[in-house]
Amino acid sequence: MPNNRCVSCGAELTQDEIGATKKLISRGAEEFYCLPCLARSFKVSESLLREKIEYWRSTGCSLFAPKE
Ligand SMILES: [Zn+2]
Repeated sequence: MPNNRCVSCGAELTQDEIGATKKLISRGAEEFYCLPCLARSFKVSESLLREKIEYWRSTGCSLFAPKE
């Protein structure tokens, strides 16, 4: 994975955070954000983003790895 750090704060990213950036910003995004930075820029709570990630995962979206 080429860019696996948040471009805003430098935090190491999970696949879910990269997937969430792609969903929220653009499929073609090449810069990714961690959940706290995404939450801040979209003015939502981190827990809402986590719920959305679980929803996207449940739809079988390939951006999110199935839960182990
Ligand atoms: Zn960040």
